[in-house]
Amino acid sequence: MKIICIGRNYADHARELNNPLPEKPVFFLKPDTALVLNNRPFFYPGFSGEIHHEVELVLKINRLGRHIGEEFAHRYYDEIGVGIDFTARDLQDQCKKKGLPWEIAKAFDNSAPLGRFISKADIPDTANICLRLDINGKRVQDGSSKDMIFSFDRIISYVSQFITLKIGDLIFTGTPAGVGPVKIGDRLQAYINDDMLLDFYVK
Ligand code: MG
Repeated sequence: MKIICIGRNYADHARELNNPLPEKPVFFLKPDTALVLNNRPFFYPGFSGEIHHEVELVLKINRLGRHIGEEFAHRYYDEIGVGIDFTARDLQDQCKKKGLPWEIAKAFDNSAPLGRFISKADIPDTANICLRLDINGKRVQDGSSKDMIFSFDRIISYVSQFITLKIGDLIFTGTPAGVGPVKIGDRLQAYINDDMLLDFYVK
């Protein structure tokens, strides 16, 4: 299985990092070794002094597909969850300056804590899913899928023009504004609507 992540999919987040708004989805991959499941802790890595949280809605692919038309894309996922796209912002800034790939900043081990999934059928409106992250009980990120630049269907269609999607693949769909650093001892709790789907500590 693979993890596909969309970057700069919320205008307010692109702006907070001084990035231009994309005309097409921007994506990158994380390996399966990035996953942290079952609310296990995230261990702060020694190679970075600036790990940022990015809370994101996550789609779980449920059928094989390539060159998927946007009008059929909704058939390729039936569960939505929440995850954190942990980013070594200091390393990413160095990569960006040199025009290098982002893997050391984005794809490292344990960079993708993933919570429970809920059935799409239990979500009243997938075009307006509230997404939020609390750190130590304080809200730090708060967004809605209605503010995404590229919809779930557009993302699936676009990515599948380049990469075959397989059952169990995950797509992180981008983060709203409010990203910032985490520190050892922090407790992160992520919600879809009012369901807490992810709850873990930084150690
Ligand atoms: Mg992200």
